[in-house]
Parts: sequence; C-alpha cells; structure tokens
Amino acid sequence: MSETRVMDLLEAATRPLFSLEFFPPKNRLGFGLLGGAIERMRAVTPDFVSVTYGAGGSTRERTLDACDLLHKMSMGPVVAHLTCVGSSRADLEAIVDDFYARGYRNIMCLRGDPPQGETSFQAHPEGLVHAGDLVALVKSMHPDVCCGVAGYPEKHPEAESLDRDVEHLKEKVDAGASFITTQMFFDNAHYFRFVEKCRALGITQPIIPGLMPVISRQQIDRITSLSDAEFPEELARSIDEAGGSGPRAEALGMEWTVHQVENLLSAGAPGVHLYILNRAPTATSPILTHSLSAWRR
Ligand SMILES: Cc1cc2nc3c(=O)[nH]c(=O)nc-3n(C[C@H](O)[C@H](O)[C@H](O)COP(=O)(O)OP(=O)(O)OC[C@H]3O[C@@H](n4cnc5c(N)ncnc54)[C@H](O)[C@@H]3O)c2cc1C
Repeated sequence: MSETRVMDLLEAATRPLFSLEFFPPKNRLGFGLLGGAIERMRAVTPDFVSVTYGAGGSTRERTLDACDLLHKMSMGPVVAHLTCVGSSRADLEAIVDDFYARGYRNIMCLRGDPPQGETSFQAHPEGLVHAGDLVALVKSMHPDVCCGVAGYPEKHPEAESLDRDVEHLKEKVDAGASFITTQMFFDNAHYFRFVEKCRALGITQPIIPGLMPVISRQQIDRITSLSDAEFPEELARSIDEAGGSGPRAEALGMEWTVHQVENLLSAGAPGVHLYILNRAPTATSPILTHSLSAWRR
C-alpha cells in the first residue's frame, strides 16, 4: 500500500477536511480498547488521522503499531508523527525508511519536548536540533513524502516572540513542509492573528487549526499545567458549575469546540484537527458530527 498524502487531499478539497489525532496505547490491553474505540468512530469517517510519537522515541514501535491498526481499520490516510528527541541522524533515517517501507507517505516532523525531568531540549550528539532539520532530512531521503509541521498561534513557549516563532515556522516550510497543524487554542482570535502573520511572511501552506474538546475540570488542570494555551475563564467556570465532569460538563465542552469549529470554517480554515485523546464519545458527539456533516456535504 502507499498512503494518500495530506497535501493532495488539501489541494483537491472542495470542502474543509476533518482529522483526528490518536496517541499510541501503552500495552496490548490498551490496543484492544483502542480497536474498540476506532470501531465506534468509523462512522465519522475522518479525512485523515494522525498518531503521536512519545517522548524520547519511547513509543516508536507502538506509534507504528497504532498507525497499522488505524490503516487496517480503514480510518483514512495516516500521518505518523516523529520527533528528534534522543535519536541520532542515523536512527531517524532508519525510522523514516521503516515508515516508508510500510507505505506511509505522511510524516509530522517535530523536534519534540525535553524528556521528563529535563528542562531544556538537548539534541542527541549526532542528532538534529530543530524540526526544520527533520523536514529537510525526510525530503532528502524520500521527496514524495508529505511533511507536516507544528504551528503555535500563542507562540511556542521557548520562542522569544510570536514574530520570531513565525520566522522559524517559515524555515520549516521552506525546508519542504506541505501543511501546518496548530497547537490547541480556545480563542479563535489567536488563530486568525497567527494566520495573518504567517501569510504576511509568505507562508502559503494550509494552516489546519488544532482543537481539543475539554470536558472536565481534571482536563483543564492538565492543560493549564502543561501548555501555555490561554484557557477561557468562562468555559472553566461553567464546567465547574456543572460539577467538573459528567454529561453536562461534557456537553458544555463540546458546545465550546463546535462554536470554534463553526467560526473557523466560516472564516475559511482548511479544516479542523481534533485532539480527541482516543475517546470515541468525543469524536462521535452528536453536536459535533451534526455540525461537521453540514460542512462536509
Ligand atoms: C500539531 C502538533 C503535534 C505534536 N505532536 C507531538 C508528538 O507526536 N510527540 C511529541 O513529543 N511532541 C509533539 N508535539 C509537541 C512538540 O514536540 C513540542 O511543542 C516541541 O517543544 C517543539 O516541537 P516543534 O516541532 O514545534 O519544534 P521546532 O519547530 O524546532 O521549534 C522549537 C523551538 O525552536 C525554535 N526554532 C525552530 N527552528 C529554529 C531555528 N532554525 N533556529 C532557532 N530556533 C528555532 C522555535 O521558534 C521554537 O521556539 C506536537 C505539537 C503540535 C503543535
């Protein structure tokens, strides 16, 4: 098999694309549960799916196994994520060749975060320093592979400014990236400002907004401790008032996401990428599927 490329889907699209992000489960039991969740999600027919790559390469095999599972279960073209953390250039070449040999033609090229317990990113002594280096490596090995890269509407935490970060994003697309998926954000104003800055700098590639439906207080606490995304007070308050979890809190979180989706697609975003944390109830939420089906006709 040779996977359809996201760049070709984007180019041919006459409507917005809808994609889902998965993470590789830890063990066989987790894979069994993921298989069941995918079965329940098949009806939502995403245009493509992606699978994250764990810190320090810890999920290399599991990322590939999750890609293979999604492929086998016909969930659409698969984007395999890859990071530079803990890998030499030769290691990365071997992984890219493995992806390619299995037929995958989409790679999300990332630098990765520092491993747990470390505060700053240290490149492997024989490795790569920035995501742009990984894009260049992949393109030099297999020019037909479609590379995606990450964009940060509220700037990457290490960047000195949003302008500087967008300049680095430009370097990533100049290295050969074909599309950009953004970090999650909860206020669309960040996305619109980011796209404007990217276009002003000559970045022409599609910028797919990444959204995470937030359905519990526990999730809010995790997001606010791990990411720099500004979390809306109003949504946090209403989830707390709904008891912090359960069907009402979930409905409020989904409503917020659907409102974001409607506003983004109305303004011409090329699609939406949902960070669903492997949850079938999120991907199959009736309010979300109803909204998306209107855009996908
Ligand atoms: C859509 C998406 C998917 C993700 N998937 C994963 C995943 O699967 N696994 C995982 O571990 N993490 C993942 N991440 C998180 C990501 O690895 C981290 O945010 C990481 O800290 C930065 O990765 P990057 O690819 O954006 O790095 P880079 O693009 O290299 O940027 C990192 C920092 O370096 C700066 N920079 C970039 N290029 C240069 C340059 N040439 N010179 C100087 N400075 C530069 C940037 O401004 C930024 O501050 C994902 C993030 C997003 C948005």
